Amino acid sequence: MHLSVSDVSKTYDQRGSHVLALDHVSLDVAFGEFVCLLGDSGCGKSTLLQIIAGLEPASQGGILIDGRELVGCHPDTTVVFQEHGLFPWMTVLRNIEFNLKARGMAAAKRHEIAARLVETVGLAGFEKKYPHELSGGMRQRVGIARALATSPKLLLMDEPFGALDAQTRSAMQAELLRLWAAHRSAVVFVTHSIEEAVFLADRIVVMTPRPGRIGRIIDVDLPRPRDPTSEAFVHHVKIALETLHTPRALLAPS
Ligand code: ADP
Ligand code: MG
Repeated sequence: MHLSVSDVSKTYDQRGSHVLALDHVSLDVAFGEFVCLLGDSGCGKSTLLQIIAGLEPASQGGILIDGRELVGCHPDTTVVFQEHGLFPWMTVLRNIEFNLKARGMAAAKRHEIAARLVETVGLAGFEKKYPHELSGGMRQRVGIARALATSPKLLLMDEPFGALDAQTRSAMQAELLRLWAAHRSAVVFVTHSIEEAVFLADRIVVMTPRPGRIGRIIDVDLPRPRDPTSEAFVHHVKIALETLHTPRALLAPS
């Protein structure tokens, strides 16, 4: 599917004060593309993701999916938040099946899909466990398996690995790329980690705060798997870092 963010602005009004969270943001994401939204806290990354997900209305502009204006949530879009949002009273398998059940899929079919995904995310043997019996990394894998169960064409992720330790995080990044390569969904992935963005993305959308805008879009044309110690990788990290630290007025228009 093709996603088009068309001149989106967003103002939050709270007790008399206005926050311009997004100011005329436009962005196109092609089918199968992996895009990272990178920026410091408060530059509107989560707001943009929520608007793309249809969970929050834009104040101006809109979202087009395959050329049609988005109203509410799109059936082919799934969101993964930092807090995995698993149901504590459901087993791993039932959590993964949840969205399929909600769509009325027959039990045998959804068991089959869930059982396969449990394998995919490396949780075979944990099907009957409850979320509190798992580590943070394992819970997040369940959250990702649940998101993938519906084969979304657009996967939206808001700092999904932010709460994980460094080792688990890098394992999850590699796993996500593997799953993405197999499913070929479009991904919009929010992070404030430059290294994470350079490791994952085809394109990095660097956002700047107050008001939230796109500062620059960086193409990351490096083969995968990427080596964070390679010269080319470090070079891209440097470009992203410079963009984050350059006053907006000095950025060349992208
Ligand atoms: P990020 O995800 O990049 O940290 P956010 O999209 O969460 O940025 O926030 C962008 C700006 O909008 C911030 O100034 C934040 O305080 C404000 N904001 C976000 N959500 C709300 C809300 N529900 N009500 C009021 N202000 C909000
Ligand atoms: Mg955020």
